[in-house]
Amino acid sequence: MAEEKAVGNRKNLSDMTLEEMRVWFLSLGEKRFRADQVYRWIYQGAGSFDEMKNLPVNLRKKLAVTARLAVPHIVQVQRAADGTRKYLFRLEDDNCIESVFMKYHYGNAICVSSQAGCRMGCAFCASTREGLARNLSAGEMAGQVLAAQRETGERIGHIVVMGSGEPFENYDALARFLRLLHAKDALGISMRHITVSTCGLVPGIHRFVRDFPQVNLAISLHAPTDALRSRLMPVNRKYPLTELMAACEDYMAQTGRRITFEYALMKGINDRDEDIARLLALLAGKRAHVNLIPLNAVRESAFSGSSRTRAREICQILEDHGIPATVRRRLGSEIDAACGQLRLSRKRS
Ligand code: SAH
Repeated sequence: MAEEKAVGNRKNLSDMTLEEMRVWFLSLGEKRFRADQVYRWIYQGAGSFDEMKNLPVNLRKKLAVTARLAVPHIVQVQRAADGTRKYLFRLEDDNCIESVFMKYHYGNAICVSSQAGCRMGCAFCASTREGLARNLSAGEMAGQVLAAQRETGERIGHIVVMGSGEPFENYDALARFLRLLHAKDALGISMRHITVSTCGLVPGIHRFVRDFPQVNLAISLHAPTDALRSRLMPVNRKYPLTELMAACEDYMAQTGRRITFEYALMKGINDRDEDIARLLALLAGKRAHVNLIPLNAVRESAFSGSSRTRAREICQILEDHGIPATVRRRLGSEIDAACGQLRLSRKRS
């Protein structure tokens, strides 16, 4: 297949806006409407030029030598009874990434990865175990959405950038991806239906507030004190809680919207009454929403998740103190590999 040839200097088309694609097609001596056709195919989830049946064979051949489509290809799908699907994708350089498709009462959502691997080093997370392989391009991020839409035959209206990787470490590609998602001629997804989650890279948060005030922000908090947070999340040594919370205040003030704070409950580590009292103090008076997630057990991890009963108790305590909280619904529990686990297990098998 043409797409499996060496990357060489073939131009990647999957990252382009429609305007960029038109310019490139004109430079190739092709008509502008050909760009529109290819663009439409990409947004229908096409994985190769061969599939673009309304292009003349000669043009497909020409594209195969001058261009490429860097998009993820599905290698494995795990399906759960509640409609959740977990995808393992292969990228053009054989790196693997994961995405999760989920059904909610408000529509379909997908959790996309922003990097292959991660270098943030959070102690409880599978994605970071083998470090960072590389950043994903915008087209590789969009391609996860497109491939899932195509495979399910359903429209996806909500995006969470909460898969493997730290999106603010890959800011430029993330920004291009968000613009591609939003473009009317591409996916037309409302900025308000997109959420980006960060482990707390403060400069990234400030930049994001300026560039994407309509996009939702989630912060992986997981601990209410610097001592514990630095132990669980090395990023906290660089950007401690006072700086992180100041950046969050900036977002809340500029946008008038709530931030979701993710809090993975670890038995005896961050779920004791005194931890929750500190969490309340940290978030008091802020436009916060807390998403409690009983930790997914990761192989060879020192941490275990709190019980759902304890999670519900903590949720009630937060609510009683005026902080909206939810316990994350367990979607696809039978395929409930924590993020990064599918990729890891594949590497080890
Ligand atoms: N780097 C970004 C986005 C990816 S992680 C971030 O840190 O926000 C997505 C979420 O899953 C984060 O909140 C992360 O801390 C959480 N997570 C990682 N490992 C987990 C586990 N084993 N159980 C529950 N949540 C986990």
